[in-house]
Amino acid sequence: MARKVALITGSSRGIGKAIALRLASESYDVIINYNRDEAEALSVANTCKEFGSDSIVVKGNVANPSEAKAIVDTVMEKYGRIDILVNNSGITRDGLILRMSEEDFDSVIDVNLKGTFYMSKYVSRFMMKQREGVIINMASVIGEIGNIGQANYAASKAGVIGLTKSCAKEFASRGIRVNAIAPGFIATDMTDALNESVKDKILENIPLNAFGTVEDIANLVNFLVSDQSRYITGQIINVDGGMVM
Ligand code: NAP
Repeated sequence: MARKVALITGSSRGIGKAIALRLASESYDVIINYNRDEAEALSVANTCKEFGSDSIVVKGNVANPSEAKAIVDTVMEKYGRIDILVNNSGITRDGLILRMSEEDFDSVIDVNLKGTFYMSKYVSRFMMKQREGVIINMASVIGEIGNIGQANYAASKAGVIGLTKSCAKEFASRGIRVNAIAPGFIATDMTDALNESVKDKILENIPLNAFGTVEDIANLVNFLVSDQSRYITGQIINVDGGMVM
């Protein structure tokens, strides 16, 4: 049987990297996408290769429609198919609404929401012809409950939730499943930037009394790409230690 091909945006570090390594270890050929840091991306691809994965690195800003299309075209030229798309790229530009610039609002919407739209649009064209595929979008608990200082991020992730459900409905008849994961607090570069008192406050609101790990997210991705989840689509699944219930 042909090996399955998984494209993971923003997989040079953090959650995306953990997903890439997990899928490589499960015999997928994994494509590592990044926007800025090529060295990190190459190092992830090299580790994937150690698992036997035919991995490549593809640079591209998902917020730019022509670059998003070029990422997909590059993958199709090499592999001729895409079985899995994980829309994981994301950024934060935190600030209170009164002080938030239009640029900071737009840049977060552009990467987190529009990037997910562009990648889903260009990949689904090929998945529809294949009559199968799995798309997983990275949402956030913040998209469900909002947060002080994160209006742009919350709006982008709430948008991802609506986009996920719409894609699931549009693509279901073509054998494509679309789900979203809503992580709570996962220890990565993104959350490392928060100061210790903010982290302590967050911890108080996590019933399981611990931050999540990138492997907690990769475990769910591994389930959602497998046939064990063949009857699950259009769902937003929280991995948050009980933060939102
Ligand atoms: P991270 O460590 O900051 O990594 C972000 C990744 O996205 C990097 O690989 C980065 O690559 C890439 N990226 C950023 N802008 C990009 C763009 N325009 N085009 C392509 N790639 C881009 O973040 P993380 O914590 O792993 O988060 C991953 C996802 O999970 C995000 O969508 C985030 O919103 C979501 N999430 C995270 C948490 C958490 O607690 N960590 C919670 C909820 C949701 P370059 O640096 O090379 O650009």
